[in-house]
Amino acid sequence: MSQHYSIALDGPSGAGKSTIAKTIAKELNYIYLDTGAMYRAFGLYAIENGIDFTCEKYIQERDRATRELLNSFNLDIRYEQGEQKVIVNGKDCTGLIRTPEVSIAASKVAVLPAVRKRMVELQRSIAARTNVVMDGRDIGTYVLPNAQIKIFITASSVARAKRRFQELQAKGMKDITFEQVHSDMQFRDRNDSSRAFAPLSRANDATLLDTTNLDLQESIETVRRIIMRKLKLSQGGI
Ligand code: C5P
Repeated sequence: MSQHYSIALDGPSGAGKSTIAKTIAKELNYIYLDTGAMYRAFGLYAIENGIDFTCEKYIQERDRATRELLNSFNLDIRYEQGEQKVIVNGKDCTGLIRTPEVSIAASKVAVLPAVRKRMVELQRSIAARTNVVMDGRDIGTYVLPNAQIKIFITASSVARAKRRFQELQAKGMKDITFEQVHSDMQFRDRNDSSRAFAPLSRANDATLLDTTNLDLQESIETVRRIIMRKLKLSQGGI
C-alpha cells in the first residue's frame, strides 16, 4: 500500500470536477492537482510558438513540430495560498490558459503519447510525495491505477456546455455563443474519448456520478459522501 492517499476524479469537461476536487482537497487538507491545466499550459506554449491548431491540413507536420517543443518546455506546478499555478519556463501562465482557443489546443496536444508521458511523469511524482486529489481524464485508469478512491463524474453535454458558457460569460467573454461552446465541448469529448493512448474512460473500480440534475452544492455533497464512506471502509482510514 502506498504511503500517500490519492483520490482520482475523472470525467469530461464541464462536469464540475475541478470545483468539486478543489473543495474536497481543501477539506481533507490534500493537494489538488488540476491535470487539465498542464495540458492547457503546453497547448498555450505551442500556440505561442507558432503552432496553428485551427488548420487540420498538415496534422503530421503539426504533431512533429509540437513534439519537438517538448524539448524546450519546462513545467513547474506551484501553490500560492492553496491555488495551483502553472509555471512555464519560469513564467506564470495560470491566467492565460482558460480561453476557448487554448481548450482546443490542449485537447489536440493531449492526443500525443510523448506529451502525455511527460505530464504523467510529473503527476505521478506529485502523488508519490503527498496526499492528492487529482482530476483529469485518465487518472483512475492510467496515471494512478492504484488510487484508493476513484470517481467518474459526468453530465449531459448540454448541461456541461451551459455551465461552461456561464463561466465564460462571467469572465467577460461575451462574444462566444452557447452553440460554439457546445460544439467545442462535443469536439473535445470525441477527441478525448477516441484517442488511442490513455483515452477518457471510466475505470472499472470507479464510482459513477451523473451531475446533470445536481447543482454544484449537491454534487460536492454527493462526492463528499462517497469519499467519506470509502475512507471509513479502507483499513485504518486516513
Ligand atoms: O480539464 P480541462 O478541460 O482543463 O482539460 C483540458 C484538456 O486537456 C482536455 O480537453 C483533455 O483533452 C486534456 N486532458 C487530458 N488528460 C487529462 C486532463 C486533461 O487529456 N488528465
